[in-house]
Amino acid sequence: MGVAVFGVSDVLVGFELHLPLDCATKLFCSCPVVSKGTEPNNATCPTCLGMPGSKPVLNKRAVDYAIKLALALNCKIEREIAFSRKTYFYPDMNKNFQISQYEIPLGRNGFVKLNSGKEIRIRRVHLEEDPGALIHEGGIHASKYVLVDYNRAGVPLCEIVTEPDISSQEEAKEFLDKLKAIVAYLDIFDVEKFVIKADTNISIKGGERVEIKNVTGTKNVEIAINYELRRQKALIESGKKVVRETRGFDEATGATKTLRRKETEADYGFIIDTDLVPTEISEKWESEIRKKLPEFPEEKKQRLMKKFGLREYDAIVIVNNKDLCDLLEKAAEVDAKIAVRLITRELLGILYYNRLRIKDAQFNVTQEIVKLVRLLKEGKVSEKNAKESLIKGFIDRIPPTQFLEKNKLLMDIGEKETEKIVERILKKNKKAIGDYGKGEEKTLNFLVGLVMKETKGKAEPRIVQKMIKEKIGD
Ligand code: ZN
Ligand code: MN
Repeated sequence: MGVAVFGVSDVLVGFELHLPLDCATKLFCSCPVVSKGTEPNNATCPTCLGMPGSKPVLNKRAVDYAIKLALALNCKIEREIAFSRKTYFYPDMNKNFQISQYEIPLGRNGFVKLNSGKEIRIRRVHLEEDPGALIHEGGIHASKYVLVDYNRAGVPLCEIVTEPDISSQEEAKEFLDKLKAIVAYLDIFDVEKFVIKADTNISIKGGERVEIKNVTGTKNVEIAINYELRRQKALIESGKKVVRETRGFDEATGATKTLRRKETEADYGFIIDTDLVPTEISEKWESEIRKKLPEFPEEKKQRLMKKFGLREYDAIVIVNNKDLCDLLEKAAEVDAKIAVRLITRELLGILYYNRLRIKDAQFNVTQEIVKLVRLLKEGKVSEKNAKESLIKGFIDRIPPTQFLEKNKLLMDIGEKETEKIVERILKKNKKAIGDYGKGEEKTLNFLVGLVMKETKGKAEPRIVQKMIKEKIGD
């Protein structure tokens, strides 16, 4: 058998993603939604503990959030939604069923557009409750018993199911990045508090579909996809079969391994939960939420490119990160051109090179960047020193402007004084001006250098150059 060649269209990837919603209370009771690390089983009540006779009551805020998300993913909203019981027997699910949506999901037929213009179709968006958390003390194999923490039981989740439209690892990453940006703009998901969990379906032409269950965090999803594609390709290339199965993911090794071979939806025995009355989502409710939707990354990208002349690549990087985007818009109020240069060239470089995020900074980034842009605009700091101060800020945790002050890198000479120095230098160098007039480009740099020396390097060469050109009438 020859070596198989895999084209892009031979890979099919689809997701079932679970996104905890940043609600104050749980989906069917008024228990608070608490972070991991909270005293176990404190945020519980008869309803989320599944006591007989307790009745669930739907959290309207969670429905608002789900509608927001479904609209952001271009879904059609169902006029009336119902909840179903998904039966399964496991310690994390004390009622022996999970309340979910099956027959009628809240939203369907949406899409997310990739940068290439390709649309990844969204099959459905629905609400369901999170199960409790199992705790294996000392690790899953070492532990002789399992503890259950029901604080998480009943936390509102939005499940997003895509069609298998993703055809490469890169597209999978792009899709997940876009989704994370969308939920950040919607303000319905708290990255500090929760993680996205994914079930990923992967198949390659010539093999059966494999599902990787319960991968935590999008970085791990990417690792799992990478591993699984290699595994399946290797099997097919060596003439072996990829069997239909469910696999688990081992975070420590980055590998997937067989969990079980067969499972269908019918096994869950869905029935409508009659404890919950059907909820009408009126057109009015939908349109009120639609009115309040924020500007989305794609629209934002187009606007930033137009308004600030951003390159598409920079615009994509910036809009995929809400913090960065807010920062740019704020700093651009002082001076758009300088803000774009400082942020896309210097700040992004520092963050990328040191694998840092804006939130890792120990100083107020927005405030400091705005100050730096102002200093640059007024010619009170050189670009080189502004960059240096940002590096100091992120690495040595000194607020950039404090660093500049302490090291006397701020020009106490204003633009007026720089101008005087420029005039003085020009007066002393009549010959050079003549050379420049004859087309000696080097001469300009020579003159800039003299001014820089005179100002002890504190002037901004760009501004000095501009001044010289103006003075000698170029
Ligand atoms: Zn409760
Ligand atoms: Mn689910």
